[in-house]
Parts: sequence; C-alpha cells; structure tokens
Amino acid sequence: MNGLDRVLQSLQAQDLYRQRQVLDSPQGIRVTVDGRDLLSFCSNDYLGLASDARIAAAFAAAAAKYGFGAGASHLVTGHSREHHELERELAEFVGAPRALLFSTGYMANLGVVSALLGRDDLVVEDRLNHASLIDAVRLSRARVARYHHGDADHARARLQAAGATRMLATDAVFSMDGDRAPLAELTALARETGAWLLADDAHGLGVVGRQGRGSFSQLDIPLGDPIIYMGTLGKAIGTFGAFVAGSEKLIETLVQRARTYIYTTALPPAVAAATRASLRIVRDEEWRRERLRENIDRFVRAAHDLGLTLLPSESPIQALVLGESKRALLASQHLRERGIVVPAIRPPTVPNRTARLRITFSALHGPDEVDCLLDVLAEAVPAA
Ligand code: PMP
Repeated sequence: MNGLDRVLQSLQAQDLYRQRQVLDSPQGIRVTVDGRDLLSFCSNDYLGLASDARIAAAFAAAAAKYGFGAGASHLVTGHSREHHELERELAEFVGAPRALLFSTGYMANLGVVSALLGRDDLVVEDRLNHASLIDAVRLSRARVARYHHGDADHARARLQAAGATRMLATDAVFSMDGDRAPLAELTALARETGAWLLADDAHGLGVVGRQGRGSFSQLDIPLGDPIIYMGTLGKAIGTFGAFVAGSEKLIETLVQRARTYIYTTALPPAVAAATRASLRIVRDEEWRRERLRENIDRFVRAAHDLGLTLLPSESPIQALVLGESKRALLASQHLRERGIVVPAIRPPTVPNRTARLRITFSALHGPDEVDCLLDVLAEAVPAA
C-alpha cells in the first residue's frame, strides 16, 4: 500500500492534510472538543436551529409514530405522509409549483444534471461552483464551459458558442466566498436562450428573502421553468436533506429519471417531520435573520477598521484570504489556542494560493462573541 503512504505524506507536506474534530456537544455557537469549551464560527447553522428543542421534539414525536428507518426508496414503499407534506410545504415556501426531496444536496445536484443532460449537451458554469455541481456535470458526461466568477456577460459568451441543449449552473450564494450570483441576469439569459438555470441556494435558503424564502424570492423572481431551484436543509434550516423545486413537469421528470432519487433509501420520516417544524420557525422568527444581519454588519465594519481585508460579501460567510495553506493553518491554530474554532479552508476546496479562514455567523452569536473573535483575529492574522 505504498501508493497510499505517498498520497498521505504528500498531503502532509503540502499542508493539505485534513483532520476531523470530535464534538461532544450539540452543534451550536459553543462546542465541546477534547474537553474544551470552544467558541465556534464555522458551522452553516446560520439561524441557530440545529439543536433547537422544538425541532428535536418534532423529530422524537414522529419517530414514536413512524419508527426510524424509511425502509425503502421513495418509489418503492419509503415515501411517507411526512415526506409528502414536507414537499408541499417546501414548494409553497419557495414559491414553486412543486418540490422533490433528496437525501442530500450533493445527490440533488447529481440527480438533476444527469436526468436532464447527456454527452451531447453543454453546461455553462461559474468557476467557483460548489464541488457537488462540478461533480454533477462530470457524472452527466455533458461538456462543460466555465465562466469567470459572477460574470453574466462571460456566461452569455460561453452559452452562445454552443449548439446543444444547455444549462447554466451556479451557486446562488457562493459557499466559500459568500458573495451572490447575478441571478437576475442569469435568469434573463436562460429565458432568452432556452437554457435551464440550475441555482444552488444552499447558503441562501432561510437567510435571504422575505421570511427566508431564498435568493429568488429576494429578487421577486417566481420559480418555474427555466429555473431549477436546489435548496439544502442541513444549513440554515438546521435539519438534513435537500430538495429541488420547479415546474410540475420538471419535478415529474426527476421522479422518473433522477438516479440519485430513484436508487436510494428515503430520508427517515422523522427527519422530514423535524424539517416541517423548522420551516415554521424559519418563517416566523424574523429576529433570527435580524440578529444574524447585526452580527455580520458588526464584524464587517470592525474588520475593516482593523485593516483585515475580507472578500466582498453580505452573507453570513465571510472569507479572510491568507494565500498559502500554511498561513491559513497557522492562523486557524492560533485562534484555536485562544478558544475559537475557524478552520483553514485550503485547495482543492478553494483555488490555489487562496487558502483562507472561512468565518461564518449564527443568529445565536451576540456582540460580545463577535468582538472576542475580532480581538483574536487582530493577533492571529498578522502573526500567521
Ligand atoms: N451545495 C452547496 C453550495 C453546498 O455548500 C453544499 C454543502 N457544503 C452542498 C451543495 C451539499 O449539500 P449537502 O450537505 O446536503 O449534501
């Protein structure tokens, strides 16, 4: 197994080796790792719902009623009333004719692209798209053209060069940079050219738009062809799973053809019940989005005053790019020694020489915690 030794040693030598930390606490703004109580700025639990007692209670009640396992795929006998109602509620929430649950966002993206496109088709995608979109295109064997990050004009040029069925694919809020895609321009381009627009709103759902209804709701763009909306449930929604929302025919095609939908066990029904409880909280508790906004604004203003250069972002994802992996690792270690968890994000998750601290905020952080992070960053970053 010498080959593997070489792979692992090479990752170590390049500062690209990854290590997991074991949490002995629920997910939250404070986590327990190795017996230490740490302040966390790295989960995607933007609204602070991952360990909400009401959602856990909804889960427990549904587990008592339905048991745990779904026992089969949706098309065999695994599709429970909880899944069915959740799909209806998700469609209503994001304003689409219909929605379809998938077990994860990764699988949803793989399923959509492979169901709709094949080797004669072309996908035009943002060069900073999430790995699951990139892999989705690879699996479909469609040809791919990448456009400059966030550049709808470049996307247009790429698209016009193609003759085949086309799809534009983009993160709606970019997972590692935190900025937004030009969705209005991309939607117009898709309409004009007859291409699909697959938009991955993993980091927008729950956070943006009225009542957290997502990135298209924020722009008052109704969902339906040519938009294929993908939302994940393991981030701001605080539970697990994902869904695709769009026109009736699109969703029916995915039921018939998306292999990552057809050939996998349905989520436990109790997970769907927990998500239904969460959606009501997401919709009704505006204070969570307000607190999140206050935290982001406080951080961005003070980081600027400290001379820390963040990538432009209004979202809970704030990236402090440090360049080489070693530098990001040292900064992350320094923060850790001072009781704060912010991991170093390194290639291939981000492009070479753009290793960074990816700092994320939650509605449950308060001003004192944000200030504490800023104090430690002021030491850690010049020191790195
Ligand atoms: N898309 C984006 C933009 C993501 O950030 C993620 C999760 N990191 C996913 C898709 C995958 O979602 P899931 O975790 O549900 O597989």
